[in-house]
Amino acid sequence: MTDGIRRLTLPLPVGPGHVHCYLLPGTAGWTLVDTGLALPGIEQALADIDVAHIVVTHFHPDHVGGAAPAADATRATVYQGELDYAQCEQVWGSTDWPARIASWFHRNGVPAAIADDLYAEGDAARPLIRFAADPVRLREGDRIDGWEVVGTPGHADGHICLLRDGILVAGDHLLPDITPAVGLYPDGRPDPLGDYLASLERTIALAPGFALPGHGEPIRDPAARARTLLEHHAERLDGAAAALERAPRTGYEVSLRLFGDDLAPSQRRFAVAESLSHLEHLVFTDRARKRESDEGFSYTEL
Ligand SMILES: [Zn+2]
Repeated sequence: MTDGIRRLTLPLPVGPGHVHCYLLPGTAGWTLVDTGLALPGIEQALADIDVAHIVVTHFHPDHVGGAAPAADATRATVYQGELDYAQCEQVWGSTDWPARIASWFHRNGVPAAIADDLYAEGDAARPLIRFAADPVRLREGDRIDGWEVVGTPGHADGHICLLRDGILVAGDHLLPDITPAVGLYPDGRPDPLGDYLASLERTIALAPGFALPGHGEPIRDPAARARTLLEHHAERLDGAAAALERAPRTGYEVSLRLFGDDLAPSQRRFAVAESLSHLEHLVFTDRARKRESDEGFSYTEL
């Protein structure tokens, strides 16, 4: 890779089948960005590499899951965004999260049987998530061995990228082949899609020469990719608005309109969370109305 950067690709048992971690050369040693899942093999993969810093872009399982074993194998210092680590602890460090998210999905119209499937699935992933306790918390503008921390909220509320000399180590903020998921979740930022659209605009303004994503090949024109993603979300916002009527619709019902009704539970979770992030952004931009009743949340046209 360019500028002496090395790519370390680790397997994922589910799609897209792989995650890229990056090794950035520096004066103190290598900086490892992201860690895959806590699968056997990460220790060996890092055995002969002098890693000084480990940076986690965001707390999703395939990025943070291997942080503790990677830190054990290398004795490196782990860094994670301040908000991202708070959410990481809340989601992966607590025993009540699966039940809370299942009941929250249920209040957004997801039938109980599907919500229970989500619960079981969330629990099954836990052994593969071994985040590093009490990392050094990062904020916008901090520097690690010459790399600047750039806050890119949206795909995760506290997502960060690293930028140096026009190279953006992008995590899941920009992906070449997949549209990064932007979902609404309980106790998260109120308008994650609004955050993401602003992060895409910021990427265009920063105009990096290329981006190194967590999945897929390097992105040669990150600003163009950001513009494509902005267009995609503008269209999907229109689709979400068109799915609303005077009668209230739940996020689940809107997800059936936007994504169809033939999805596995894990895909349904993303479809509902994604539909909700679009519905909330419509509410934030005065294009829809939200109601809360005893049954839960629903949305109507204005
Ligand atoms: Zn992610």
